[in-house]
Amino acid sequence: MKQAIINPANGEVITEVAVASPKEVESAISAARSAFDAGPWPKFSLQERKELLLKISRGILDKAQGLAKLETLNTGKPIKESTFMDIPSSAKTFEFFANNLEKYLKDETLELENARSRSVRQPYGVAVLIVPWNYPLLIACWKLAQALAAGNTVVLKPSSLTPLTVLELAKIISEAGFPQGVVNIINGSGEAIGEQLCADKRVDLISFTGSSEVGKKIIGYASNNVKKLIMELGGKSASIIFKDADFEAAVNGSLCSIFLNQGQMCAAMSRIFVEDDIYDKFLEDFTAKSRRIKLGDGLNYETQMGPLISEAQREKVISCVEKAKKEGARLVCGGKIPDSPEIKKGFFFEPAIFTEAAERMSIFQEEVFGPVVCINKFSDLEEVVKLANATDFALAGSIWTQDVSLAQDLAGKINSGINWINTYGMFYNEVSYGGFKQSGFGRELGREGLLEYSRFKSIVIDQTKDAKPLVNYWYGF
Ligand code: NAD
Repeated sequence: MKQAIINPANGEVITEVAVASPKEVESAISAARSAFDAGPWPKFSLQERKELLLKISRGILDKAQGLAKLETLNTGKPIKESTFMDIPSSAKTFEFFANNLEKYLKDETLELENARSRSVRQPYGVAVLIVPWNYPLLIACWKLAQALAAGNTVVLKPSSLTPLTVLELAKIISEAGFPQGVVNIINGSGEAIGEQLCADKRVDLISFTGSSEVGKKIIGYASNNVKKLIMELGGKSASIIFKDADFEAAVNGSLCSIFLNQGQMCAAMSRIFVEDDIYDKFLEDFTAKSRRIKLGDGLNYETQMGPLISEAQREKVISCVEKAKKEGARLVCGGKIPDSPEIKKGFFFEPAIFTEAAERMSIFQEEVFGPVVCINKFSDLEEVVKLANATDFALAGSIWTQDVSLAQDLAGKINSGINWINTYGMFYNEVSYGGFKQSGFGRELGREGLLEYSRFKSIVIDQTKDAKPLVNYWYGF
C-alpha cells in the first residue's frame, strides 16, 4: 500500500511512500531477531561497531544539503533550522557514540571480601525505536546511534507524516555495510502497526518518543512480556525570569524557547513566569517581537516560522486556543490563521500569547505542541516554584538571572529532567536528557543514555583463600 506525504507549507503531495503491511512488520521483527540470535553482528568488536557508526555519520554529512532540504519540505521547519541544527546534530550523534562507546561500555571490576565481581554491559537484543514528526531525522539518529552502539539490532518506525529523511538514512546505512537484518526501517501509522510492533515477544526493548497519550498505550502493549522501556513523552515546561536577568537575552531566548520549530518541541517553554518589576516591559517587548516573526515557506532563507505539521495539528492548536479563551485566559497577540494570501494554502498559525492563565486552566496544564505561550507575573519565589511544578509533566526548565547561586538552587527545586540557566535548548551529546512524571522515564544521550540501551550483568567469582567458601560447607555434612 502507498501513502501520500504532504508538504505542510502548501498542502501539496511531495511523493508517495510504501506503508508496511502486518506481514512486513512480522518480517522486520524476524529479521532483527535472527540477526541478533544467529547473525555475525553480536560478534563484532567494539572497534568494528565504531567504524560502522562513523560511516553513517560521514554519510549524513556527505548528503547534508539534500537532507536539510528534504526535512524542511516534509516538516515545514525553516531551512536554517534543518541546515544548522537537525542535520549536523544527527551526524554528530553517530560520531559521538562511535568515539565513546568503548569508554561507556567498559566492564567494571569490584574487589569484594573473598570474591571479585565483574559488571558487564550487554545489548538487550531487538530494539523497537518509535520516532515523532517534530525532529524526524534527529530523534531517529539519537535512538539508532545509541541502540547500535550498545550492540542491539533494531526496527525503526518514523512518524508516518515525516518518513522522508529516515528513508534516505536507510540508504546511508545500507551503504555503510551492516550485516543483514541489523537495521530494519518500516513506515506506517502507529495506530495500524504500533501494537503489533510493541507487543511482540521477540522484541526486548522499546524506545519511544511521542505524546504521553500514545506512551501510555505502549506501556500497556509492552507489559504482557515485560520489556525494557525508554519513554520520552510530552511537556509543559516553565521558564522563570528574574528582574536582574540580562533583559534582551531573556526576551530573545524566551522567543526561541516557545516559537522555534513552530513551538512543536517537547521541551518548549509554554509557561513563562516573569518577576513583577519587569513584567510589563517584558510582555511589551516579547509581543512586539512575536508580531515581527516572519511566517512563510521554510525553504525560503528569510522565513523564521514555518507551518504546523498538518491540518489536524492546526485544528488541535486552534481548539486549545479557543478553550483557553473560554476558560478566561486573555489572548494578547496572534492565535489565528494568518490572512496573508501567499501562505493561505499551508497549515500556518500566528504565534499566540496569553496572559492571566490560571493554574486550573487547560492552557496552563495541557501540552499544546504549537506556538502558544502563557506569560504570567510572579513576586514570590516559593509561589513561582510551586506553580512551575504544578502540572503532570516534568521535562525541562529555564531560569534567567544574574544570581547563579539562586538559579542553581532553583534548578534543584524545579521538577524536571533538565534545567537551563540563562539559556534555552542547549543539547549536547555528552549530557543526558529526559523527563519525570508524565514526561516519561529513561534517558537519551550522554553516558546514561547509552547505558539505557544495554543491560547490566554481574559475574561473581569466588576468591576465597586457605578455606572453603561458606556455600560449600553449609550443607556439607
Ligand atoms: P505521537 O505520540 O502521536 O506519535 C509518535 C510516534 O508514535 C509516531 O511514530 C506514531 O506513528 C507512533 N504511534 C502512534 N500511535 C501509536 C500506537 N498506538 N502504538 C505505537 N506507536 C504509535 O506524537 P507526535 O504527534 O508524533 O509528536 C508529538 C509528541 O511527541 C508531543 O507530545 C511531544 O511532546 C512529544 N515529544 C517528546 C520528546 C521528548 O524527548 N520527551 C521529543 C519530541 C516529541
